[in-house]
Amino acid sequence: MSTIQDLARRWLPKSWADSMEQESRHWIIECPECGNYKSVWDAGGIRWKAKSYGKRIRTHCSQCGQTVWATVDYYAELPEDETTTV
Ligand SMILES: [Zn+2]
Repeated sequence: MSTIQDLARRWLPKSWADSMEQESRHWIIECPECGNYKSVWDAGGIRWKAKSYGKRIRTHCSQCGQTVWATVDYYAELPEDETTTV
């Protein structure tokens, strides 16, 4: 858990912190080069009560090793976790 997530857990009522984590998990950062993705929460961030769709962030992709403008979009249905299907 990152510092910002730890702080949020410490300062917010539990129901808010849970809601924040759930919502952050639905915001997916996707690499335009290789399609690798992870949730904002897994990336150590928080995205809560946000409404800006089509946002892009400059980030380093751990899969293809490139620095890319990754897209950040809200998915009501989460992508399947590939590790569970193997
Ligand atoms: Zn990539």
